[in-house]
Amino acid sequence: MTKYAILSDIHANTEALTAVLDKCRELNVDKYVCLGDIVGYNAEPRECLKMVRDLDPVAVVKGNHDEYASRSDDRMDGFNPHAQQAVLWTKNQLDEEERAFLAGLPLRRTIPGTNITAVHATLDSPDTWGYIFDSHHAANNFTYQFTQLCFCGHSHVPLAFCKRPITSMIEKPIDEIIEWAYNSDDGMFPQDPTIEDAVSIELKTGYKYLLNVGSIGQPRNHDPRASFTVYDMVEKMVTRYRIPYDIESTQAKILNAGLPERLAIRLSNGN
Ligand code: ZN
Repeated sequence: MTKYAILSDIHANTEALTAVLDKCRELNVDKYVCLGDIVGYNAEPRECLKMVRDLDPVAVVKGNHDEYASRSDDRMDGFNPHAQQAVLWTKNQLDEEERAFLAGLPLRRTIPGTNITAVHATLDSPDTWGYIFDSHHAANNFTYQFTQLCFCGHSHVPLAFCKRPITSMIEKPIDEIIEWAYNSDDGMFPQDPTIEDAVSIELKTGYKYLLNVGSIGQPRNHDPRASFTVYDMVEKMVTRYRIPYDIESTQAKILNAGLPERLAIRLSNGN
């Protein structure tokens, strides 16, 4: 029995990561995949890096914050001033060995012995940190996806697409799996953000799946709960969990560290 937990965009949020890992233990997860952006934005990059490395993950890929916090120059493409400030702060926190670990991460990994490819942004151009927001972007990614499953992060917004086996030329090959992203009938905000819940997709033979697992440490889908995914290889099922955590503690650490207040406030709103 092999259960993989797919963790993304932890962003130095110890409380969110702790809540997620508690849930993983409860679910008897035995393998871990990390999709990058372990650091950036929040106040505990070293702690989160250690927690991830202690899991002995089968794959860790690099996120743009990992890249910018570990490179020798201070170039950051497309970052707003708050993100930039947090990256420079993070760089100062990390020691040389930690920066070397982040700098040495690959941009994408196909995990041997599995049907999983892991990438932070997109398979078609992982080093330019593009976003997948619609089926057009998904189509570009599927062109480079040679495994049944590709897990990605980066946008902090959970989204899922499947590509059906081509049976006719007129059939639309790519569908968005709406229930992966939304968790209430009336919109994007969860009915009760103080409890955990989950949504599952049963994997069909011959279909390919592109799954954005959402963010653990800084969700932006108007749901403040930590989002992560478990892939059960035996049951052929992927499940996205939403886990509440101690947001106030994370916010206090951000303010104590002198990081921008906006980075604390957005955690309550999930945006
Ligand atoms: Zn991120």
